[in-house]
Amino acid sequence: MNHGHEDRIAERPQHLCAAYGCPLIGSMSSSTTGSTEWWCFAHFGANAGKLQAITSEMHRLRWLSMAVHDVRHHPPGTAESRAAFQMIERQLTAHQRPDLLWKRKADHHSGGEARSTWLARLESALRHELSPVLDSSAYNPTMPAGGGEVATFSKVGFDMPA
Ligand SMILES: [Zn+2]
Repeated sequence: MNHGHEDRIAERPQHLCAAYGCPLIGSMSSSTTGSTEWWCFAHFGANAGKLQAITSEMHRLRWLSMAVHDVRHHPPGTAESRAAFQMIERQLTAHQRPDLLWKRKADHHSGGEARSTWLARLESALRHELSPVLDSSAYNPTMPAGGGEVATFSKVGFDMPA
């Protein structure tokens, strides 16, 4: 267990991003001197004048923002993580994004895409959705090229991947 990161940001409610109202977890800091300012991937380094616009878009895209939050926030093995996982699957399906569902391996009953890989795909999708309000014009979306099967929604009871 790495508690160092948690200790530094313990005073931030729920470890949220420093941008006011941002629903995401602060995971990035530019400071090497113990700053308590942690930012999500979208607000990190963003133009100050765009912070609120980014936050507003995140709330409009809450189904995706909360998936990004929950996958990062909930390690597997708890009732909360299982509930969050199933909610994410419902939300992604409801918003016609089955491509963003966690990828199970066809040849395993459990196991599949690593949680970090899944999170990266979700963040990439959110970054793409936010691109009109983000400063960066260098974003280059890369779609996953196969590998693993898209989950079928009929399978229930899955927990967050490890
Ligand atoms: Zn943020």
